Amino acid sequence: MIITILGSGDAFGTGGRFNTCLHVEAGAERLLLDCGSSSMVALNRAVVDRNGISTLLFTHFHGDHFGGLPAFLLDAQFVSRRKEPLTIAGPVGIEHRTRHALETDFPGGSTNRWRFPISYVEIAPEAPATLAGIEVTAFPMVHDERAGPCQGYRLTAGGTIFAYSGDTAWTEALIPLAAGADALLVECYAWNAKLANHLDYETLAQNRDRLSAARIVLTHMGVSMLAHDEPLPEERAFDGMVLAL
Ligand SMILES: [Zn+2]
Ligand SMILES: [Zn+2]
Repeated sequence: MIITILGSGDAFGTGGRFNTCLHVEAGAERLLLDCGSSSMVALNRAVVDRNGISTLLFTHFHGDHFGGLPAFLLDAQFVSRRKEPLTIAGPVGIEHRTRHALETDFPGGSTNRWRFPISYVEIAPEAPATLAGIEVTAFPMVHDERAGPCQGYRLTAGGTIFAYSGDTAWTEALIPLAAGADALLVECYAWNAKLANHLDYETLAQNRDRLSAARIVLTHMGVSMLAHDEPLPEERAFDGMVLAL
């Protein structure tokens, strides 16, 4: 698997970073994991072939992870002129949330006669799925249920495992999510502030030895986290970072 982190930012574009957007290549397949509001800019800047992406997979329904979907769909309809089928996958409610987001961003957009087939796949911890040739298992995260269910995912393809937390406070579910993974991409919004819905570095460091991923990469860093630039045992994500696993 090759993961390109097109967006490593928080919800606010802190540090000039794009909202979350991960381009996942597994063999000939292409999947986008989260597509935050700024993702069309990120995709265009990186010159990514949108029509080569078969599947969009979402962790939860906050704008910095989900907000790029309406523009992605309209781009597919009117600019990229997509013909290839598109799968939109995510937590329970993904189809309703997609229509709602389209109607909010582009009123009338949900009634488009799409030039390409769209299918929806709901994923839940008890209901894994195979998407773009990748086995996807969901883990329940602790974030904001108004924008959920909020999920982390474990992606397995060709004997490689990539784990991604999405947004979450510390939860014991991070341990099985990360277990034996080739890489864990984990949100680390704050330096040491204890928040109900986001993780801080101090807490992560205290639990570091319980996360058995070969690599740990920090993402979704806010102001206080970015203010610390001292060396850490973990890697820090940046826009354009490539994880060749
Ligand atoms: Zn977020
Ligand atoms: Zn969020």
